[in-house]
Amino acid sequence: MNRSGNGMERAPNRAALRLRLRLPVFAALIVAAALASGGCSLTPASSATDEGGAAHRAVTSADPGTAGGERAKPDPGAGPETGSVSGVLEGVGNGPNLDAVSGTIGGAEDSPGSGAASGTEPGPATGTNGRTDTNAGAGAPDARPPSQPPKTVVYTGPVEHIFFHPLIVYPELAFDGDEKAQGYDDWFVTVPEFKAILESLYERGYMLVDLQSLFERKNDGGRQTIARRELRMPEGKKPLVLSIDDMNYYDYMRRNGNVFKLIVGSDGRIAAYSKDPSGADSVSTDNEIVPIVDAFVERHPDFSLNGAKGLIALTGYEGVLGYRTNDSDPATAESERREAGVVVERLKADGWTFASHGWGHLDAGKVTLERLIADTKRWKDEVEPIVGPTPVYVYPYGSRPETGSAKFRALEAAGFDILCSVGPTPYLKVMPDAAMMDRRHIDGIALRTQRDKLLGLFDADKVIDPVRPKTR
Ligand SMILES: [Zn+2]
Repeated sequence: MNRSGNGMERAPNRAALRLRLRLPVFAALIVAAALASGGCSLTPASSATDEGGAAHRAVTSADPGTAGGERAKPDPGAGPETGSVSGVLEGVGNGPNLDAVSGTIGGAEDSPGSGAASGTEPGPATGTNGRTDTNAGAGAPDARPPSQPPKTVVYTGPVEHIFFHPLIVYPELAFDGDEKAQGYDDWFVTVPEFKAILESLYERGYMLVDLQSLFERKNDGGRQTIARRELRMPEGKKPLVLSIDDMNYYDYMRRNGNVFKLIVGSDGRIAAYSKDPSGADSVSTDNEIVPIVDAFVERHPDFSLNGAKGLIALTGYEGVLGYRTNDSDPATAESERREAGVVVERLKADGWTFASHGWGHLDAGKVTLERLIADTKRWKDEVEPIVGPTPVYVYPYGSRPETGSAKFRALEAAGFDILCSVGPTPYLKVMPDAAMMDRRHIDGIALRTQRDKLLGLFDADKVIDPVRPKTR
């Protein structure tokens, strides 16, 4: 396997990418563009243990990245570092940013249900003249005529929020025994696993909802407050927020079995570009979360409430969505930003939204206030112009500052009032000025160790991919 030279590739020639893209399943085409190679930095795996802000005391944030200000070490044997890496990573915790949490949250202050979620399933229908289900058993669940919209009811139960990292597309690169292999086994899922999970979620009545649609803001005497908005769901359906972290396609991801970038395919749909292990270019709409979910919702419109898809949480230190928008060469950076902008526009039109995952993937619970403020500003300066403003902040490592602390206030002051952490069960707390939500991590650790907790969503034993390493 040749690992040199597939890290810092330039964007494939877009004209070349407009070649035939065969749908609806796996389509691969040869991209004619020659790809420039470059050096990459790769940080050896290490784990960071959350020493516990008061908030998430019992959560252990293991992360193969460097969590606290270590500089990336150059990949031995790789070419010279490009300016885009060496120039911007001053003092940030770069490298692999694989959020992961193992263990459980103790009761403490974070007991699920202390917020707006009541923990109950939707109550019985209060109305009377809804759909009578005369189509029941008539075939596909979405076979109802459009003239008969399903009856909706107010949903008051818990809101599930699950997150993934970009999918493992090439297991032979992910599980190759190198220093990243265990991290991939722990913090990622494969394409078949993701598809099986999606089918199960649909079968169990889950429906994608837009995180921001759960809230409304009010002006309370000049002060902006946030509150739960009434959520109406088709009767029997349960809301699900889906998020994807670190969809930046960092250099290490490209070497370890993830795709390289999202692109807009010749048919206008989002597709994923990668090089397969043989080095051949591949464009597919069937190997990454975004196009897979797009196609799934197309087949099953009742899996999405009002067209919602998911939340994409991005850092900025290696660009976004596979585009090196931070390249040290201004012309390259500009063209990367332009291409990323086209993808962002399409994603938004398709129901995807964005969140800040910090610029440098810092551990907000641990870094100094000054560093968090500077990092937040840098994200707003560099990433917000590409993805647009967002009120959602997804804590790297699931590590959050104490509620009400100076760091918490700094994030609020920067416009983030929906703050997402990580936890093993649905948790949503809405205070007057901020909403805090936990997300479940769906990854190898969860599949191996949290089957019972996840049974309401899917059966991990039936989902887990036999391609994973058998022993650890
Ligand atoms: Zn992350």
